[in-house]
Amino acid sequence: MNEAEFRKRGKEMVDYIASYMACIGSRRVTPAIEPGYLRALIPSRPPERAEPWEQIMDDVEKKILIGVTHWQHPRFHAYFPAGNSYPSILADMLSDGIGCVGFSWAASPACTELETIVLDWVGRMIALPNQFLAFSEKSKGGGVIQTSASECVLVSLLAARAQAIRSLKAQHPFVEEGILLSKLMAYCSKEAHSCVEKAAMIGFVKLRILEPDEHFSLRGSTLRQAMEEDRAIGLIPFFVSTTLGTTSCCSFDALSEIGPVCREYNVWMHVDSAYAGNAFICPEFRYLMKGVEFASSFNLNPNKWMLVNFDCSLMWVKDRFKLTQALVVDPLYLQHNYSDKSIDYRHWGIPLSRRFRSLKLWFVIRNYGVEGLRNYIREHCRLAKKFEELVRKDVRFEVVNKVQMGLVCFRLKGSNGMNQRFLTSMNASGTLHMVPASLADKYVIRFCVCAQNASEDDIRLLHSFLLSRFSHLSRRVFK
Ligand code: PLP
Repeated sequence: MNEAEFRKRGKEMVDYIASYMACIGSRRVTPAIEPGYLRALIPSRPPERAEPWEQIMDDVEKKILIGVTHWQHPRFHAYFPAGNSYPSILADMLSDGIGCVGFSWAASPACTELETIVLDWVGRMIALPNQFLAFSEKSKGGGVIQTSASECVLVSLLAARAQAIRSLKAQHPFVEEGILLSKLMAYCSKEAHSCVEKAAMIGFVKLRILEPDEHFSLRGSTLRQAMEEDRAIGLIPFFVSTTLGTTSCCSFDALSEIGPVCREYNVWMHVDSAYAGNAFICPEFRYLMKGVEFASSFNLNPNKWMLVNFDCSLMWVKDRFKLTQALVVDPLYLQHNYSDKSIDYRHWGIPLSRRFRSLKLWFVIRNYGVEGLRNYIREHCRLAKKFEELVRKDVRFEVVNKVQMGLVCFRLKGSNGMNQRFLTSMNASGTLHMVPASLADKYVIRFCVCAQNASEDDIRLLHSFLLSRFSHLSRRVFK
């Protein structure tokens, strides 16, 4: 493709995306296909000769889009939102065009510096304590963009592990590191995301999964008891992953109780706030992050709920040296003359190569303003409350979580099997998409407000559809 054609096709692509978004509501939310559908439509070998652009685009519509789950659809209510907005798409296009690989300051100074500055911006937007920010020369803290919340949790665990082993090694210089590692114990709540379990698996450390209270929050007393039991049998608590806004039901761990326990036992407290963290740009939600000052690291995903496209997962640490000590390797070919005066993000995560991801965050914050982003979050929370109100009006249904943000967990008052059949039938219709969760052994249906421009009409329509589906099933299946 030459420059002239790129200009032409680029404009067409923007039009194509805009039309896709404009008409998305007329599509099924989930595709009506079976696994392996694409094998029958796409040749098993790549083309030897160049193919015309029109033909490729024709296949996008006929072969690809029929197999897409439309996450931006107004009736997509599964998981959490997949952030998306025009300024973010355009900024990502620019990032691809610039095509730099910013693993060190020297590899692309603007890529590194914008990331540091924008992470300070967002840190301020959510009122993170100053120690997490990099703005002053004296500060030891700072933020970085990782690919996913899973990676933020893993990297925090690795930093905590390295710190724990270093301090144990200083106390017991003749004990093998492998033996010390076998004593380390990490903790999280049963409601923590499964990425914590994965991080412990990769980090080769034990993980104790604790029972939350009746509101699905992990409490300080539960953690203290577990740590004391473990210490009594020679294990060494080193890491706690807490959650603000759990995946199943958007519950909040009690940081102000857990934090002092972590401090007492010299344990690294991580806060995973992948979804809900975005809402802390609104001051009225900040009471939910009380105790964050005890954390060593914190993450949130603007690619969930701040209108930024995947990938964009932000992580802050109070002490960046503790993080980089776990991850530094320094071959000659990556060194440069400004290492002492600059940040090299290759030491802050697992991959070496990094995209210019801060561009899309910078574009979105500037194009909406913090006020615009707050309005967006508040509207989602208002619509979730509206949906909760509609569900509660009908005595056949119950709401199972405390609705504080954009997520409502509800169920039919009946067996788990009945709820499962209800959800399966709704999803099979292709009219909407929701996913289940298990809360205190109850099968619940998660309804999350996801679409950028979700409206009260969408919520009412969806609720009427839900009731009509229930009546239909009641006649045929639930008799
Ligand atoms: N943590 C929480 C609280 C989540 O809700 C999720 C995903 O929904 C994750 C972590 C995993 O996020 P990622 O896909 O960015 O790894």
